[in-house]
Amino acid sequence: MHIEPSFHKRYHKALRDTAMLKAVKNGTGRLRGQRATAIEGVGADRWMEFRNRAEAIRLHVIQHLDQYLEQLVDNVIKNGGHVCLAKTGEEAVQYIAELAKKKNAKTILKSKSMVSEEIHLNPALEQQGCNVIESDLGEWIIQLAGETPSHIIAPAMHKNRFQVADLFNAVSEEKVSTEIADLCGFARKYLREKFLGIDIGITGCNFALADSGAITLCTNEGNARIISTLAPTLVTIMGMERILPGLEELTVMLSLLARSATGQKLTVYNTLSTGVRNPEELDGPQEFHLVIVDNGRSKQLGTKYEKILNCIRCGSCLNACPVYRNIGGHAYGWVYPGPIGAVLSPLYQGMDKYGELAYATTLCGACTFACPVKIPLHDMLYALRNDKVELEKTGGLVEDMTYKGWSAAFASMSRYRFSIGMARRFQFPLVKAEKIAYGPPPISDWLKHRDMPALPKKFFHEIWREMKNDGKE
Ligand code: SF4
Repeated sequence: MHIEPSFHKRYHKALRDTAMLKAVKNGTGRLRGQRATAIEGVGADRWMEFRNRAEAIRLHVIQHLDQYLEQLVDNVIKNGGHVCLAKTGEEAVQYIAELAKKKNAKTILKSKSMVSEEIHLNPALEQQGCNVIESDLGEWIIQLAGETPSHIIAPAMHKNRFQVADLFNAVSEEKVSTEIADLCGFARKYLREKFLGIDIGITGCNFALADSGAITLCTNEGNARIISTLAPTLVTIMGMERILPGLEELTVMLSLLARSATGQKLTVYNTLSTGVRNPEELDGPQEFHLVIVDNGRSKQLGTKYEKILNCIRCGSCLNACPVYRNIGGHAYGWVYPGPIGAVLSPLYQGMDKYGELAYATTLCGACTFACPVKIPLHDMLYALRNDKVELEKTGGLVEDMTYKGWSAAFASMSRYRFSIGMARRFQFPLVKAEKIAYGPPPISDWLKHRDMPALPKKFFHEIWREMKNDGKE
C-alpha cells in the first residue's frame, strides 16, 4: 500500500474516498453509541470512579516500570519461558525471524498485535519464506487487501461488506455472498483449517501481569486463545508499558477496556496464558517467547508526555475525534491513527516525519473526555504544536507574516480599529449570504470545508457606544 509522504496529501486523498468515509462514520458512530450505553449502565459517577482508579493504576505502573519489568521477566523465565528485551523494532524482528529460521517454520499464525504492525514483522517473516496468516477477522481482511489497519480495535473499519466480499471471493473456490453472516462463516471455515498446521503462533498482549508472568489476551473471536493453545512455539509481542501489577488491577482494566472499546461489559474471550505447558497438561505451547519492545517508549519516561504510556489501546479517542471520523485512519500515515496516533507518531517516529499530525485536531478535547485512563490528549497535541514551532523556529513564511501583521494591528486600539474598518470595507466582494465565500489560497482551501462569518456591520463596542450615547446603557 502506497502511503503519501505528506499529511496534507494523505487527508486530501482520504476526503475523496466516499465509500471509506461512509464506512468509518458508520463504524465510529456505532462504537460511540455502544460505549455511551455501556457507561449509562454503570452510571456516570461510578464510571468516573473507574477512570480515576484506572488512571492511578497506570500512573503507578509507569512510575515503577523498571521494577515491574524486572518482576515480569523473572516470572516468565521462572515459568519456563524466554524473554527478549528489544530496544528497537529491528531487534524484535530479528529475534523472531531467527527463531522462525531455527524452527524451520513454514506457517505462522498471528492474532492481532499493533506492536507487530509497528515493527513491520510480517514482511520480514514473509521475506524469509514463511506463510504468515492473520487470524483476527479485521486483520485478515486488510492482509488480503494488502493494507495496514485503519483503527486500533477494528482494523478493517474502512471497508464495507461489498469490498470484503470481493476480497474473500478472490481466495474462495465458491462464491461468497455479501451477507455479513456468510462473510463471517467463510472466514471462520477458511481460517479454522489454517490453525491445524501451525508451526509458530504469534499473539499481541493486552496486559502482562508482573506478579505471575501471565499474559492477558482479549478477543471477541477466540483466535488468540486457539493460537496460544495449539501453537507448539508461542511468541507474544508487547510494548514495554503494557504491564499491570496483578489480577486485582486487571479486573479494573478489563472492565474499562471492553466498555470503552466496544461497549461490552467484558470482551468475549479473556485468556490468561502462563507460557509453556506443564507435563500433566494436554495443551499449550512447548516453547514460549516474550518479546518486550521499547522502540521509542522509554524516551517518554520523565517527560511531559510520559502519561501517553498509560494508553490501553481501547480506540475510544478515535471514535470520539471529529478529525478521525472525517478522514479515517490511513491519513495519519503510521500504524496508530486518531488522537493517540497523532501524539505517538511524532514521539516515537520523530517530529520531522510526523510533526504535522499535531494539527490533525480541533483541540475540542473529546479525545481526553473519552479516554478511560484520562490521558490529556488534547493538551499533548497542543504541546506538540509548540514543540514543532520551537524546533523549526518558524511556522512557515505565510503563518509568520500573518501573525506579525496581526500582532502589529492588535497591539494598539487605533491600529485595531483602523484595520478592522479596512477589512470590513474590502471584504465586500468576498461575501455571500453573510459569509466569506471566496478568498486567495490558502484561505480558499480552508473555506472549502468551513464557514467563516463576514465581519458584522457593527461591532459590540460600536453598538455599546451608540447605546451609551442614546442613554440606553
Ligand atoms: S489514548 Fe485513551 S482513549 Fe485513546 S486508545 Fe489510548 S486509552 Fe484509549
